[in-house]
Amino acid sequence: MSESIVGSPGSGAPVETVIIGAGPIGLFQIFELGLLGINAHIIDSLAQVGGQCTELYPDKPIYDIPALPICGAQELIDRLLQQAKPFHATFHLGQEVSEFAPTQAGRFLVRTNAGTTFDAATVVIAAGVGSFQARRIGLEGAQAFEDAHIHYRVRRAADLHDQRLVIFGGGDSALDWTLELAAKARSLTLVHRRADFRAVPASVAKMRELARAGRIRYLEALPHSLIVVDGRFTGVNVKATDGVIHALEADKLLVFFGLHPKLGPVAEWGLALEKKALLVDTEKFQTSLPGVFAVGDINFYPGKKKLILSGFHEAALAAFGIQHHLFPEKKQFLQYTTTSPIMQKRLGVTSS
Ligand SMILES: Cc1cc2nc3c(=O)[nH]c(=O)nc-3n(C[C@H](O)[C@H](O)[C@H](O)COP(=O)(O)OP(=O)(O)OC[C@H]3O[C@@H](n4cnc5c(N)ncnc54)[C@H](O)[C@@H]3O)c2cc1C
Repeated sequence: MSESIVGSPGSGAPVETVIIGAGPIGLFQIFELGLLGINAHIIDSLAQVGGQCTELYPDKPIYDIPALPICGAQELIDRLLQQAKPFHATFHLGQEVSEFAPTQAGRFLVRTNAGTTFDAATVVIAAGVGSFQARRIGLEGAQAFEDAHIHYRVRRAADLHDQRLVIFGGGDSALDWTLELAAKARSLTLVHRRADFRAVPASVAKMRELARAGRIRYLEALPHSLIVVDGRFTGVNVKATDGVIHALEADKLLVFFGLHPKLGPVAEWGLALEKKALLVDTEKFQTSLPGVFAVGDINFYPGKKKLILSGFHEAALAAFGIQHHLFPEKKQFLQYTTTSPIMQKRLGVTSS
């Protein structure tokens, strides 16, 4: 794994804040910091921003965002991104923050599983309910074949061309990849445990058409066991709803059983926890370690409610806390975006 360090002082662009988590609150944190002239890098383990809104309920309407009587969850994320755009945060997606350590210089090292290390003056943890992990297939010996034969996401579609594929799942990912790869794979079987699908009906209809035309195979079944011959992966047995076991020869299994959150590394960084969340004050939303803040679903304080609007308020006050941590001598005063020339300049809405 190659390692690069981002943001150490003297490196040209010192990192003032690293935000861990690009859910709605992490995105709004960029905006609130930007208004105060503070730059940010933002990291998420998922390949896209939006946290629970994008991952769990993108098409559902939200009714309790102030001044937006109704707003789709993905629409909210799109709007937050647009609002944060003037501040040019640097996004690091598809990387889980696995390590965190304060330095003797009073800064923080934040390291991801992709080998990037940040040297940051302050850190905001906006990790929500944790890092989303793919649900595993749960068959004996499966872990040994991960990446070579068992995949929980598609990194390079071309690697799947001309392969014998078995795709598991009934959501949009399983159906989208089935449709995408049907003509490119050597053979393709879709396996789903029941007749109901979570995927959009149009995709399900197309998949059924392909199955009727004999271009793919569709089975209602559960994974049963891996087929391994002399230590070599050769396929998977599935158990159909009628109890019959089908042996499916395969080069690769694509497993799309959805994602589940894991508090994971955040719980191991020595920060005070309460109710499996990071304990913060309600003045600055600072954790037990000065310079490290926590906003959104990941934090706890008396009266905490895991709502988006609460997270927005926390992000605003955390930004002031961060500004004070970075520039303790600086006098803080409240400015309105309506009337503040400096904020308007930062927002790019005036040239003065
Ligand atoms: C079905 C459903 C409906 C909801 N409806 C509403 C509603 O109507 N109104 C409302 O106010 N709230 C609603 N909520 C709750 C709302 O979605 C959450 O309060 C909100 O998403 C919290 O935002 P967040 O940014 O704190 O965390 P999340 O949205 O959880 O985002 C956190 C991000 O951090 C990332 N992350 C975590 N750990 C790491 C790590 N170690 N390294 C890198 N990245 C990491 C995760 O991958 C994730 O993307 C709903 C929730 C659900 C599930």
